[in-house]
Amino acid sequence: MKKLWNEELKRILILVLVSSTIGWVIGQIAWTLAIVLAFYATKQFLQLRRLILWIDRPSTEMPELSGIWEEMAYRFYRTRRRSESRKTRIANLLKRYQQATQSIPDATILLNSREEIEWFNGSATRILNLNKKDIGQPIGRLIRDPQFVAFLGSAEIDSEPLDILSPVDDSKFLEIRLVPSALDQRMLLIRDNTHIHRLTEMRRDFVANVSHELRTPLTVVIGYLETIETLDDLTVEELHDLVGRMSSPAHRMKTLVEDLLQLSKLDTGVIPAASQCPGIEVSALLKSIVRDADQLSSGSHQIETNIESGLRLRGMEKEIYSVFSNLVNNAVRYTPDDGLIQVVWKSVPEGALFQVVDSGVGIARENIDRLTERFYRVDVGRSRDSGGTGLGLSIVKQVLRRHDAELSIKSEIGKGSTFSCLFFAERVEGPEAIPSLENDLPLTNPG
Ligand code: ADP
Repeated sequence: MKKLWNEELKRILILVLVSSTIGWVIGQIAWTLAIVLAFYATKQFLQLRRLILWIDRPSTEMPELSGIWEEMAYRFYRTRRRSESRKTRIANLLKRYQQATQSIPDATILLNSREEIEWFNGSATRILNLNKKDIGQPIGRLIRDPQFVAFLGSAEIDSEPLDILSPVDDSKFLEIRLVPSALDQRMLLIRDNTHIHRLTEMRRDFVANVSHELRTPLTVVIGYLETIETLDDLTVEELHDLVGRMSSPAHRMKTLVEDLLQLSKLDTGVIPAASQCPGIEVSALLKSIVRDADQLSSGSHQIETNIESGLRLRGMEKEIYSVFSNLVNNAVRYTPDDGLIQVVWKSVPEGALFQVVDSGVGIARENIDRLTERFYRVDVGRSRDSGGTGLGLSIVKQVLRRHDAELSIKSEIGKGSTFSCLFFAERVEGPEAIPSLENDLPLTNPG
């Protein structure tokens, strides 16, 4: 720039010298100088005008300028280009930031110092039904819960989040945090916590149920122990009798604890992929289960089997055993004497199907969906009398989930029930995969 100034000064100096010389030659120094300087000033003025017009309308082409004006125009152009690219960068950053906050699953609401809504993200629309009209509204008018209003007034940095019922759907629970944003702004972060509340409720119910289930047999055992303690002259026969009476509640507690342990293992453990599980010889497994069921029934039921030999299942043998035996034993327990029970294991287009059909007491439609809930029983007395813990079908459901299988239950009161487990092709090995064992279709009362 300095060089340009020097050149311009040199140019003015030469102009003054040349015009003075010419003026001296023609004897009009003052006039010649005045005319030449006026001409120079007009030229500079015109360039300045062109520059200003171009600055006002930067989209037009850069005008033709010379000397210092050309340099000024170029510098202006460079500064403008830089500020434009900075603006684009900031706009992109803002857009990315907004996109990121839009995709946050928590409702995010920006409040000004008067606690009015300045901005909110898409999740706020989903969780609180906010819409554009709510911008500028005080948040206390939309969430009227007195606990929230007090929280808004008193919340400090790091204060505990607030749990309230959703103002738009009272089946949902919200967790609200308030964090400082800019100087006079605060940000509300609202999370839908319904599933955590449900889990807490389920855990509470579960503990209550376990305590309840254990309390009755434990009270019976303690009762007998106290009797033994207080009676001094007990004969050996009487003692045997009392100990014998303790056996049933003690076994009930043992079964319950075993079922609980099994459920807890199923909840936490991972199962290997189908390709890594050995193929279970289901026909052999079922024979042993049906034999045990026959013993449980003491011959008072007719048990028929329709089992496809060589149809194997890739899974955890102990778990599958527990599913099949639970379903077969339930059929015996909930079917009156002389009833018919059919056990089926066969290939179907989707893979393989295990089915237990009974002609028992049946289940009302409204109870069917709840059968796999922990401790859910239709008839508590009947379940307990036959040694049930109310956990059998929960175990069935968990094991089937781990084996990507589906459970379906069809039943009619007084007519009987059908429990079906559908295993998909990737967990099934066809009969051709192994040499065929004996064909036991149909087989009645094995063992
Ligand atoms: P339980 O130990 O009580 O049998 P389950 O979880 O195995 O527990 O079954 C839950 C409830 O489902 C049972 O209490 C019973 O009311 C009902 N149920 C299960 N299987 C049958 C069946 N085959 N027929 C009728 N009701 C059944």
